[in-house]
Amino acid sequence: MAASYDCQSCGACCATYDVLLMGTDLDRFEADPSLLALTTPYEKLAGAQARFMRREAATGRCVALHGPLHACACSIYGDRPILCRELEVGSPHCLAAREAFGLPL
Ligand code: SF4
Ligand code: SF4
Repeated sequence: MAASYDCQSCGACCATYDVLLMGTDLDRFEADPSLLALTTPYEKLAGAQARFMRREAATGRCVALHGPLHACACSIYGDRPILCRELEVGSPHCLAAREAFGLPL
């Protein structure tokens, strides 16, 4: 059985991974300037444009993550990108992020 953790007592994955907007994310974010402001463009080959969630330069945290890592919350939870929804608690990506922050596995 996969491990179970309280994400609001963690936040490690939100301070670890680049989050690419995918599929319907782009439509949703481009329709709302306050969401779009949390992203950064990334020029791919042939000039096609993609967007990532913006990360703080100093900490690597997603700019939508509010509060310290042990008491945090996604400030756009209802609108969060598909990749964020798909990262499962207890998955290899979850465990790797927790381990990198020295959190118990
Ligand atoms: S690393 Fe795992 S426990 Fe921590 S916030 Fe992400 S999904 Fe939740
Ligand atoms: S959008 Fe929310 S869930 Fe996704 S990385 Fe940023 S803070 Fe975490």
